[in-house]
Amino acid sequence: MTTERTLVLIKPDGVARNLTGAILARIEAKGYTLAELKKVDASRELLEQHYEEHVGKPFYEPLVDFMLSGPVVAAIFEGHRVIEGFRSLAGTTDPTTAAPGTIRGDFGRDWGLKVQQNLVHGSDSAESAGREIKIWFQG
Ligand code: ADP
Ligand code: MG
Repeated sequence: MTTERTLVLIKPDGVARNLTGAILARIEAKGYTLAELKKVDASRELLEQHYEEHVGKPFYEPLVDFMLSGPVVAAIFEGHRVIEGFRSLAGTTDPTTAAPGTIRGDFGRDWGLKVQQNLVHGSDSAESAGREIKIWFQG
């Protein structure tokens, strides 16, 4: 068995709505182990590194501004296949249509800002996880 690590962020909407505990509880209940946890007032520089793959897309600047609008909670979770396991638990990007039973599907919806406020981020590959964990925890 190979243990993977993934970066999970609870975005400013999740923290502001007091959903941090409920979201972390779902990840733990699925059987993944919390390895690191912190609340962060992220800098623009950190967020620009984190979202560098989206530079130039129409939602990039509003996304960075949204992520600067309040504290985020950053966590590292560990477990076998946790990268895809957390993405499945989070649900698809658009919270309005994310499946009920997922974090985005149960707690999120479009508040008039397209799909930006979707509560959580999860690394999408082993390579992204390595890069993002460095940015948030070893930067
Ligand atoms: P995911 O978080 O599901 O991996 P992406 O990596 O494609 O999604 O996008 C990163 C984040 O950018 C999304 O979680 C969401 O907050 C925001 N986003 C993506 N697409 C849009 C869009 N069309 N309009 C507004 N925000 C978006
Ligand atoms: Mg992504």
